[in-house]
Amino acid sequence: MVLLPHTNIIIDGFSFTAQLEQPHYIFFLTHFHSDHYQGLSPSWNRGPIYCSPQTALLICDKFSGIPNIYPLEIGETYWISLNLKNCAGVNVTFIDANHCPGAVMILFQGEIGTILHTGDFRYTPRMLLEPCLNNSSNSLIPINQLILDNTFCMPEYDFPSQEMCTKLIIQIIEENPNYDTWIAIENFGRETLLVELSLYFNTLVIVSESMFRRIEILGLRPDLFSTNSDDGWIHAVPRKHMFRIYQRNREGLDTIGIYLSGWYKKYSKEWPFYHVPYSLHSSFSEIKEFVEKIKPERLSYIVAPGKSLMGVFELSRKVLEDVAKDENMMEGIEFKPPVKRKIGSGGGGYLKKLKKPKTIGCKIAESEEIDEHPEINKYTMHYYI
Ligand SMILES: [Zn+2]
Repeated sequence: MVLLPHTNIIIDGFSFTAQLEQPHYIFFLTHFHSDHYQGLSPSWNRGPIYCSPQTALLICDKFSGIPNIYPLEIGETYWISLNLKNCAGVNVTFIDANHCPGAVMILFQGEIGTILHTGDFRYTPRMLLEPCLNNSSNSLIPINQLILDNTFCMPEYDFPSQEMCTKLIIQIIEENPNYDTWIAIENFGRETLLVELSLYFNTLVIVSESMFRRIEILGLRPDLFSTNSDDGWIHAVPRKHMFRIYQRNREGLDTIGIYLSGWYKKYSKEWPFYHVPYSLHSSFSEIKEFVEKIKPERLSYIVAPGKSLMGVFELSRKVLEDVAKDENMMEGIEFKPPVKRKIGSGGGGYLKKLKKPKTIGCKIAESEEIDEHPEINKYTMHYYI
């Protein structure tokens, strides 16, 4: 959870609202992985939630009672009012985070400065071409603070690209032509890989009911998936069920298992299991390149490493500080009241109110409903033209 400095903006934090000092907060959800939406429930109602349209669909599917969900299109810039009374607000632009469907990085711009929150992200150089990150002379805009996904911010985590790992997985499957393939998949985000395997081997991929539902909701080629285990031989299986492979092989149901994670660092084989460093997060060299290009004035981190990794983490932090502009580290969580925005006589005249967001299957705030919720009526969303 990050409370953005000098604002009432909370990113990926829904569990701690009871402890917060101020009554009014606005919330962002970078993506729909459970460690980021922890605390949400159908009765949760602490403020508006801003997220991508895909994430909004998944929230509505899982927590159908939550009101005031505002899907913002990726690549569009919105003016979000933090406090109508003193006209404080901030420009917000979402950037595709290349992590799981609907995952975004968030660019905040305003009197609080320019802050880029990566959420969970897998860096690709094309991110730096995003119009919102470039000025009119095609150079990157100055970033005052970068809040970074540092999951693999340690030099030994220098694993290959997803494309390389996909080729490796295809090779593993081809080396075991008469075997069923079980791939350990805990949460979503690897659908692109499964689609590629389905097309390459010309077979349906077998997934759980809940995974199939998500694939359908997000329109991720549901025609290539099935929940009937007789329809194919490539299965996406929860990690906790992978031990059953031993039993299957004893019974003559030849099966190999493939585990996917950046934590493996490199490819390894322990028959009948294979470990492939297919990661949804950036490798260390990708993180380093990203920070070198962005050159933030200040750097802070999303993940607090455990004790065992603290030493390596501190070393990595120094490497990144060297490529950032200065060594002024931020702690990430801080609260100060919203900054008062100085406006002229026609104050706010350049703001144009956005049309009501489309209803997408769950309760989305409309003006009449806002009046019924006094704790929310300080917030409205405007479109910055
Ligand atoms: Zn994630």
